[in-house]
Amino acid sequence: MTNPVELTQHVDVRDARERFVSRGVSTPPIVVAAAEGARIEDADGRSYIDFAGGIACQNLGHGPSEVVRAIHEQVDRYLHQCFMVGMYEPYVEVCRRLSELYPGGSGGEYKSVLVNSGAEAVENAVKIARAATGRPAVIAFDRAFHGRTLLTMTLTSKVVPYKRGFGPFAPEVYRSTAPYEYRGVGTEEAIMALLALFKGDVDPESVACVVLEPVQGEGGFVPMPPDFPARLKEVCEEHGILYVDDEVQAGVGRTGPVWAIEHYGIEPDLLVSGKSLGGGLPLAGVTGRAEIMDAVGVGGLGGTFGGNPVACAAASVVLDTVAAPGFRERGEELGRTIRARLESLNITGDVRGIGPMLALELVTDDESRTPAPERAAATVAAARERGLLLLSCGLYGNVIRLLPPLTIEAAELDEGLDILEASLAAS
Ligand code: PLP
Repeated sequence: MTNPVELTQHVDVRDARERFVSRGVSTPPIVVAAAEGARIEDADGRSYIDFAGGIACQNLGHGPSEVVRAIHEQVDRYLHQCFMVGMYEPYVEVCRRLSELYPGGSGGEYKSVLVNSGAEAVENAVKIARAATGRPAVIAFDRAFHGRTLLTMTLTSKVVPYKRGFGPFAPEVYRSTAPYEYRGVGTEEAIMALLALFKGDVDPESVACVVLEPVQGEGGFVPMPPDFPARLKEVCEEHGILYVDDEVQAGVGRTGPVWAIEHYGIEPDLLVSGKSLGGGLPLAGVTGRAEIMDAVGVGGLGGTFGGNPVACAAASVVLDTVAAPGFRERGEELGRTIRARLESLNITGDVRGIGPMLALELVTDDESRTPAPERAAATVAAARERGLLLLSCGLYGNVIRLLPPLTIEAAELDEGLDILEASLAAS
């Protein structure tokens, strides 16, 4: 059998990728050889500062030592069990922490189900909301990204590359306006649009849930205005609709507090977590009040690998770390440092985000605010050449999002921001 070490030494991974991996998965021209903290080393020995974090999965950086230790210990105990075959402590421990950390503090009882990916968790949140309300319809918002499975792709709002050619889509999904302050859409317009949707397209009494990211991720790092979640919750309560808070990208400390919705002072009915939750291993969850979570019949939730013991061992440490005293403050300080630097760049466009979840929206000029995706792509490419990994996002691909580890050292952060500045200047 070929040893994987030999494979990386003797086969050009790029060629092998072309030959054996579907082109449907897009990859930049980087072959990762090692990663630690805020750095990735490629197969040619080049070092990069990582502001991409495996798309928001490395809030604690690559290979955080406490997480890695917990993983090793669990690997030595047992690997896969399947919670539906035999229950085990790491799964229950993650659910206990998710319950203790539930935002909003109504003090009720909270339960969770653990799954493999963000998309699977959003799907399950919708299943739970449907079972709890007995209603079919779901409302998603402009620029939403909730995943790539049939239902979550339907909830997602970007045709290329996520939806083109993949229809027909799931039924009973409706889309409403989301606020986008930079483009003149505020809370009032968004609420009016939702009420109009209830008049024109869907009976609110048949809606199971709304699904909303508190800070839209893939859609362009667009934070909801301070009053929008509360106004939306009011409308939901009036009609018996559940509020699903998708924290897959914005959660687990990315905006400072454990959950981004904590900035908004509301208690969602269901909270979806993922990405950084597993500290680099695949894990996602749905958490909510016990009576909602228990509305599903026995056997209605689950999955072979959901809540894998090793991923759960990692997640308990991750949750303890992001909930520890001082973590939020350090994250918010990091956010202030990055924001000050981004604002000093005087880009044509917008600097936005919450805490350390920040982005630059690039436009051609301040009057028309026409998206400038070519400049964003050129900046990402120039940064890679200079040793910084960045990701773009947004409906038009003209937003550069920054996802450095929240634990990044000051010198590495500075170096990364210097490269960003030089790359913008060169693009
Ligand atoms: N929800 C949000 C807000 C996301 O950003 C993502 C992924 O980027 C998902 C859901 C889907 O997560 P996954 O890719 O783990 O299925």
